[in-house]
Amino acid sequence: MEEINVDLAIIGSGPAGQKAAIQAAKLGKSVVVLERYIEPGGNCLFNGTIPSKTLREAIIDLTRFHDRHLYGEEFELKEVTIQELNKRLNSVLEEERNMVFRQFKKNNIRLIQGEARFENSKTLLVVDRDYRLLYQINAEYFIIATGSKPRNPQNIPFDNAVILDSTRLLGIEKIPKSLIVLGGGIIGSEYASFFAALGTEVTIIDRKDHLLPMLDSEIGIHLQTALTDIGLKFLGRKEPEDIARVGDRAFVRFKDGTTLEADALLYALGRTANVDSLQIENTGVRMDSKGYVIVNALFQTDERNIYAVGDVIGGPSLASTSMEQGRLAARHAFGAETHVFPTFFPIGIYTIPEISSCGYTEDQLKELGYRYEVGRAYHYELARSHIVGSNVGMFKIVFHAETLELLGVHVIGRGATEVIHIGQVAATFHAKIDFFIDQVFNYPTYAEGYRVAALNGYNKIKHRK
Ligand SMILES: Cc1cc2nc3c(=O)[nH]c(=O)nc-3n(C[C@H](O)[C@H](O)[C@H](O)COP(=O)(O)OP(=O)(O)OC[C@H]3O[C@@H](n4cnc5c(N)ncnc54)[C@H](O)[C@@H]3O)c2cc1C
Repeated sequence: MEEINVDLAIIGSGPAGQKAAIQAAKLGKSVVVLERYIEPGGNCLFNGTIPSKTLREAIIDLTRFHDRHLYGEEFELKEVTIQELNKRLNSVLEEERNMVFRQFKKNNIRLIQGEARFENSKTLLVVDRDYRLLYQINAEYFIIATGSKPRNPQNIPFDNAVILDSTRLLGIEKIPKSLIVLGGGIIGSEYASFFAALGTEVTIIDRKDHLLPMLDSEIGIHLQTALTDIGLKFLGRKEPEDIARVGDRAFVRFKDGTTLEADALLYALGRTANVDSLQIENTGVRMDSKGYVIVNALFQTDERNIYAVGDVIGGPSLASTSMEQGRLAARHAFGAETHVFPTFFPIGIYTIPEISSCGYTEDQLKELGYRYEVGRAYHYELARSHIVGSNVGMFKIVFHAETLELLGVHVIGRGATEVIHIGQVAATFHAKIDFFIDQVFNYPTYAEGYRVAALNGYNKIKHRK
């Protein structure tokens, strides 16, 4: 057993842990990162963001997805194999994994493989798979960045081929001809759209009456129409009662008595914090009723020398937000200048078509009683969309009807997760929508949608005056 003394010990090498480690190292602190798996990167790299987004791009390219609209009747869907998809996946994972190693090395961050658990609020013990004690780590500060895992009920017979969660899905050996997706949240909707693009007969089910309820409802409707157009079937207000594998098929009986079967089933009904093995009870850290670690606005737990960041503290549960939380926690711990987490940050949803959203939705503004107006631009109004053969999508901006201040931006369609940042910056700087009108945008671009939407919104106000 080796005893290690450091300024900061971080549990978990996902995006939250990585950015915390790099920040602390840049401040001249000694840092160790503990990771239970052989390779660093977290769920983000191996089970979540990077694999799913790589598969999405591979599917779009290999099926020539965007050619469907351009070539209409002449278009023939190419059959894609798992081997083709995995080829791209493996090469991206290799690149990304190497980058994490490089960054750790460059910043003198020591990576230790093993499972960490708290002995007390000043000491961690690290054990191997056989529970042999490898290290005792004494640190001034700790950051819990242990992420999340699929919330899988015990009674569901998960396997690696038919009854799947988002992690197991990455190991399938053939593309199912039919797929049931349980859960219309981000993960369920993304994978449902990927498989629909591959030609799989997909049925997505949720207990709500539409997909992705957190979206501005107009964007949600736009998405549902686009998905229906590529063959995806949505069934709302349904809850599973029994899930079984019968032979090589997945079988679901719903509470309303109806049944469905398919070649495979993706169970995507939520995630839960990864805290099981941490022995948090040996510290004063508290958890909420859903099992997430409770933190203040500076990401400190009730034990002020222990911070928690990323998925382990609950929503928004994104790699993007986790990274920034990690960086801010390390800065606060070591007295570097810091700020609270930004109010305006984008959410990227990589369905096909993709969506991104930042700031208030129209529904929220209605509820808050704001005097607001809406500007819209549809992709069919943009030359860029015609050129690339994609007329699906829209920009929706919401703004204050009197001050014209931009309050929210919601984009669906190609490039949405990139162009959102223009709206994010404008909203953060409290820009008024005439800012978009008075600028020259590259032409033909998607970004031009901001200008068209601003003009649309502005004209409504002007005519009212
Ligand atoms: C299918 C899917 C798609 C996603 N797509 C996106 C997306 O497009 N964009 C986006 O921003 N986000 C996306 N996310 C969310 C994103 O992956 C997570 O928000 C992010 O990974 C959280 O980072 P983290 O550092 O908190 O934890 P994780 O990435 O989960 O890493 C935690 C690490 O801690 C380790 N660990 C846990 N307990 C211990 C212990 N006791 N000792 C040692 N190590 C331990 C784990 O092994 C793991 O490696 C997606 C998630 C999924 C599942």
